[in-house]
Order: sequence, then structure tokens, then C-alpha cells
Amino acid sequence: MNRERILGPLDSADDDDRSLRPKKMDEMVGQREVYERLMIAVDAARKREEPLGHILFDGPPGLGKTTFATCIPRELQVPIEMATGASLRAPKDLLPYLTNLQENSVLFIDEIHRIPTAVEEYLYTAMEDFRIDLILGEGVNARTMNMTLKPFTLIGATTRAGMLTGPLRDRFQFREHLNFYTEQELTEIVKRNAVKLEMNIDDESALEIARRSRSTPRIANNRLRCVRDYSTAKEDGRLTPEITRSALDMWEVDTLGLDRLDRKYLETIARVFMGGPAGIEAIGHTMNVALDTLTDEVEPFLLRSELVIRSPRGRMVTQKGLDHLGIKDISASEPDDDGGSVNHPEPDSDNQ
Ligand code: ADP
Repeated sequence: MNRERILGPLDSADDDDRSLRPKKMDEMVGQREVYERLMIAVDAARKREEPLGHILFDGPPGLGKTTFATCIPRELQVPIEMATGASLRAPKDLLPYLTNLQENSVLFIDEIHRIPTAVEEYLYTAMEDFRIDLILGEGVNARTMNMTLKPFTLIGATTRAGMLTGPLRDRFQFREHLNFYTEQELTEIVKRNAVKLEMNIDDESALEIARRSRSTPRIANNRLRCVRDYSTAKEDGRLTPEITRSALDMWEVDTLGLDRLDRKYLETIARVFMGGPAGIEAIGHTMNVALDTLTDEVEPFLLRSELVIRSPRGRMVTQKGLDHLGIKDISASEPDDDGGSVNHPEPDSDNQ
């Protein structure tokens, strides 16, 4: 079972994120309104010595959901249990987490939309009454086990708020949507993290990395590491704006921050589907990429940047998207190498 118990330093299982993840809420950059609301709630819970209300974070990957979830218990000075929705396949999988909870501690469930309904139903009484009634065994051997739990806070994170059922969503007292970051906020994150990585970075280089990071802190961290590798390997650790640009160009990160996969997605709609509309499944099959990757990681930034739009009939590339790809005339554009042409794109079956 993928389970982590963390009492000391709180970090995700992801080593790469670990060293750069802020440890306290006031080290976090941006998301000020969310920060203010949560700090008030944390302060009140601390003063009343009560558990904090359940919190749901939603938003695209890499925007700080796990960071908030791991900073909050530190502010409250309580332990955290961490689980992922996909690992909670049966009600009994919840048990170790729930029995380990301490008074007012936090249970964090990442990707909470992946929890099956059978497990979700057990969470309702756990969240509402701090109680769980489990049926163990089957048939004549079945018996019910009633357990009283310590009061706790559930923090859920999801990239797909729309996939959560109403009853589960309604049981969260706080629902916070995390937004993309401004260039200024990302520049600040890059500079702070450069210090943690013992890099000597100038303002222009930090801004260049921020500009090419799709408004997402996790991507900014990755780009920063790529630039550091490049500077170490090719420039003896020297870093200038020119070196930063060369590094990012070499990693095929373009001026808008799109990488190979983002461009391939745009090109597939533009060239294979003649600009769209194209159904997400057809796009995924053509690119040979999982739909989740496209909807969770690729599309949010492209939609927000108006490079692509979602209509009821499917995805369409915009004029801005075509300009970015340097395509002047769709009808004259060549099909993608591994694409092939499709004459009748299916209607969009993805309703998120
Ligand atoms: P999510 O859970 O939403 O996928 P994370 O919380 O894991 O995203 O964030 C990924 C990385 O981005 C973190 O390790 C951290 O370094 C950085 N990060 C995210 N949000 C912030 C923030 N508000 N301020 C500073 N760094 C951040």
C-alpha cells in the first residue's frame, strides 16, 4: 500500500519537488486570497483547539495543492497522513490511515477524484461524524465494525473537481481553486529556488525562465534545473541571459514556454484535423498519448493562453495558435509525420 506517515519534515513522495517545496505557508509565493482565507481558518482552529474544517484544493498539476496541504499541518503543529486516491481501492484500505489519525491531525488524499464510490461512501461518516461503520467479511460471516475516530481534517487535492460527486464535494468546508501564477510571482519563485540550489542567477535569466514556464511553479523548477545542468556541463557554472536562452532552446522550450508535447498537440489539431473541431479521444489516439495527460497537463495552459478553444464539437486551434506554429494556410499544411489524416473527427466526448 502506498502510504506515508510523516511527523517531522513534511514532503511529497516526489524527490524532485522535495528540496524546493516551501515548508511554511508564508514561504509560498502568490495565491494570496487562498493564503489569507486559510491562515484565518488555521488561526481560528488553533485558538479553539478544534480540527480545521475539511479542505478541497483543485487546479492543474504543479500549482501548489500538495504544498498547501503539507504546509497547513505545520502551521497547526499536527501530524499528517498522506494517501493517493488511486491506492484506496477498497474500504479496508482507508483503515490504516483513519486508525493512525491523532487528535486534530490531517489526512491528505491526493487525486481524490480517483477514489471509487464504495470507498467514498465510508468517507462521508468519517468526515461528518468522525465515525466509520465497516462491513467486514461476506455472507453469513459478515460483521459490522463501528469505529470512533479522532477529530481530524481531510485535505483533498484534485485536478478534476468536476469528477467529484456532489455529496463528497459538499462535505468540504473550504473549496479552494488554485490559479496559474503571474510572471512576477514565478520570477520570485525561480530566484528563491536558485538560492536553494546554490545558483547565482541574474534578474533577466530568472524572468526568462519564468516566462517559459507555462505559469506553473513545478515547471519553473524543472526549467531551472535544466538551465543549471546546461550551465554546469557547458559553461563551467556560468549563467547569463544568453546561456539561459540557449539552455531552454536546447530543451526545446519555446518562447511561450510550450514544450514538444504541447506543440505536438497543437500541430495535431492544426495539421491532422485541419484546425478542428476534433474530439479529445481522436487527438489522443493520433498522438498516442493518454487522455489524462492531455486534459490535465497539456490543455489547461493552452486553453488559458487562447491557443486552442473547446467547443461542444471538439477542440479547435485558434488563429493565435496557428500564428505560434507559423502556419499560414491550414489547407496547405502537411499532415504530421506520425499522424495521418482523418476526414471526420468524432464529436467531443469529453465533457469536463
Ligand atoms: P500540485 O500538488 O498542485 O501538483 P505541488 O504543490 O506539488 O503542486 O507544487 C509543485 C512544486 O512547485 C513544489 O514542490 C514547489 O517547489 C513549487 N510550488 C508550488 N506552489 C508554490 C508556491 N505558491 N510558492 C512557491 N513554490 C511553489
